[in-house]
Amino acid sequence: MALNKSMHPRNRYKDKPPDFAYLASKYPEFQQHVQTSLVGRPVVNFKEPEAVRALTCTLLKEDFGLTIEIPLERLIPTVPLRLNYIHWVEDLIDGQKQLRRGIDIGTGASCIYPLLGATMNGWYFLATEVDDICFDYAKKNVEQNNMSDLIKVVKVPQKTLLMDALKEETEIVYDFCMCNPPFFANQMEAKGVNSRNSRRPPPSSVNTGGVTEIMAEGGELEFVKRIIHDSLQLKKRLRWYSCMLGKKCSLAPLKEELRKQGVPKVTYTEFCQGRTMRWALAWSFYDDVIVPSPPSKKRKLEKARKPLSFTLPEAGLKELQIKASALGCTSSFPVDGVTALLEKSLTDLRVMFKHIPCRKQEQSLFLTAVENTWIHGRQRRREQNRQLREVPRAPQSASLQNTAVTAPPSTSVCDAQTNAQVECSSEQQGPHEPAVKSEEPKEQKEAGADNMEMSTSTDTSIATDTCLKEGLTTENKPPSQQSSSADGNRPFLFKCVLNIILEEKDVLVEMHWVEGQNKDLMNQLCTFLRNTLLRLHISWLNVNLNIFCEIST
Ligand code: SAH
Repeated sequence: MALNKSMHPRNRYKDKPPDFAYLASKYPEFQQHVQTSLVGRPVVNFKEPEAVRALTCTLLKEDFGLTIEIPLERLIPTVPLRLNYIHWVEDLIDGQKQLRRGIDIGTGASCIYPLLGATMNGWYFLATEVDDICFDYAKKNVEQNNMSDLIKVVKVPQKTLLMDALKEETEIVYDFCMCNPPFFANQMEAKGVNSRNSRRPPPSSVNTGGVTEIMAEGGELEFVKRIIHDSLQLKKRLRWYSCMLGKKCSLAPLKEELRKQGVPKVTYTEFCQGRTMRWALAWSFYDDVIVPSPPSKKRKLEKARKPLSFTLPEAGLKELQIKASALGCTSSFPVDGVTALLEKSLTDLRVMFKHIPCRKQEQSLFLTAVENTWIHGRQRRREQNRQLREVPRAPQSASLQNTAVTAPPSTSVCDAQTNAQVECSSEQQGPHEPAVKSEEPKEQKEAGADNMEMSTSTDTSIATDTCLKEGLTTENKPPSQQSSSADGNRPFLFKCVLNIILEEKDVLVEMHWVEGQNKDLMNQLCTFLRNTLLRLHISWLNVNLNIFCEIST
């Protein structure tokens, strides 16, 4: 189950996808639908409605103790997605704690939301249905699970949504309503023709719905608009109104509709499971409700916390050590060598820095940039080269003396091997291209190897938080004000923390934003430093060795 990392954090399948082999050994009916893949793994063909149904019934039995029946000609729910929605409703109403009342609009033959909500949280449900077959099955499923005390299934006319279902009960305030509306406007849409992207691959699972279940006049957009209009009359009769959406493009017009109608509290989310994405919208007329942050905001916060980084692989480090030893670095530890080279670049750029406490085998510098000296770097280098051709070479220490650094010079010995190799990945920008990659994580980044990269970043950002706190509390004042530099009190462009970390045998360089005018400036400086380290390999390039440098954010 790819992308399960982005399931709701409480979804039981998030870190533990169903064990098909175990389930097959325990449930003979399910075993019939389990095949063995070419690599010997047990697999289920999600294009076969019988297999989907067998999996759903088996999971409901195994994990929730529920016995249900669903006709093949009606929508067969998938359990991980339904759980994602239930957990989001819990977030909306803080519903794990006490008895809550909800309405499931269009409960389907399975009656899955009420059965899960009642089993997991003891919620009371009013479940509505228009379709005769669905209604009969839903009632039966409630009865055979002894849930009639908690779940009331009612048959409603097609034209109605919430208003009629609530006509009789004028007193009760419901905590929420949920709805998995018919998604499609017509048969063509149901078959995927005219979907939002004609190049999208065909769905990986079968669409098992009957006509009334998956199609509604005007599709889900009109269906949800009707719920919105009912909610405008019912207002505080429900604390939260919510709806799942099959198409992302439905979200914006519905949010706009809620805005136009002046609905005070609106939020949305996305449900990720396998390769299927769904969205959900919720709104409330209460001022005191908890409004969970939408995922885009969460992502923005994560993005703000995520450092910029690049990796210097082991193969290229020896060459860097040689360059570092030429600067006077005597340590053979790669982190020290890279730090010495970075200090030299920062010094040349007149970026102030000071060492701050950090973990063993790491280096951490607090940077304060007061002027943008890196943007014209190429121009400046040309000028320097010209001067070098014309005047005798200045001693190395001269540039260091001119700068406002408080860092002590490195003291240990550097290893001087020359046959190191540095490669450059194909996606990589060349050393002279300007920007570090954008910070927005891609959807796929949530799975597989990329995850390791992201979790690494999280770990080190925690370390940086600690370093930062320690650094700032021990020193008490920002480094710009403590620096021996005459520039000390000048306004700064930005401040950041530069961490140099040994990761296995590679060296990871990270930049964590602290404060300042514009994060793009840190991005530019990061690119400049990365390119400077790459340029140190230029002699190799000339002898056709590969360059390798991975950059990530
Ligand atoms: N909740 C189930 C079924 C969703 S399919 C699940 O998640 O699996 C949508 C369901 O809404 C169908 O069963 C369909 O018959 C029902 N439906 C369609 N229009 C309705 C309406 N106006 N009121 C109540 N149910 C409706």
